[in-house]
Amino acid sequence: MWSPTIKLPLSKLSPMISPYSDEYFMKQAILEAQKAYDKNEVPVGAVVVANQQVIARSHNSTELLNDVTAHAEIQAITAASEFLGAKYLKGCTLYVTLEPCVMCAGALYWSQIDKIVFGARDEKRGASRYESLYHPKTIVTNGPLAEECGQLGKAFFKERRRVN
Ligand SMILES: [Zn+2]
Repeated sequence: MWSPTIKLPLSKLSPMISPYSDEYFMKQAILEAQKAYDKNEVPVGAVVVANQQVIARSHNSTELLNDVTAHAEIQAITAASEFLGAKYLKGCTLYVTLEPCVMCAGALYWSQIDKIVFGARDEKRGASRYESLYHPKTIVTNGPLAEECGQLGKAFFKERRRVN
C-alpha cells in the first residue's frame, strides 16, 4: 500500500529568523566582559534576559569591590531580582561568557533561573562536572561564541603575565 508522506525541509518548518538569538545575547555578555577587561578585572561578563529583553548586565568586579564573591553571575542575579522585584528569576535566561564556578552555580540554584547559557568552558573551576549543583529545572547549555569568549580570558592572562 502506497501512502504519500510529505516531508518539508527543516528550514521551511522554521522560517522565523529572530534577531534575538543566543549569539545576540552572548555578544551582549561579551561587551560586559570587555568592560571588565578594560578595568583590569578578569574578563567575565553576563546578562539576564526575560521576554527577549536584557534586564540586567554585569561583569566581574572582584578587584574594584575587593570582594572575591563579586563574580558577574552573582551581580547579575542581584540586578535581575531588583529589576523584577522578585527573588526568583522565573522565565529568565542568564548568558555568561565563562562557565559558572561552583559558587555561582550554587547561587543560580537558589535563584531558580530557567536557563543558563555559557560561552567558554572553565576546565579548572567550572561547575558543570557537578551536574547536581544546578537546579533540576534549570536548563544548562553552552557553546555560542565559545571561541570569542575564551579569547578574551586568554588575552587577559597573557597580558598579565607580560606585565608582572
Ligand atoms: Zn563564579
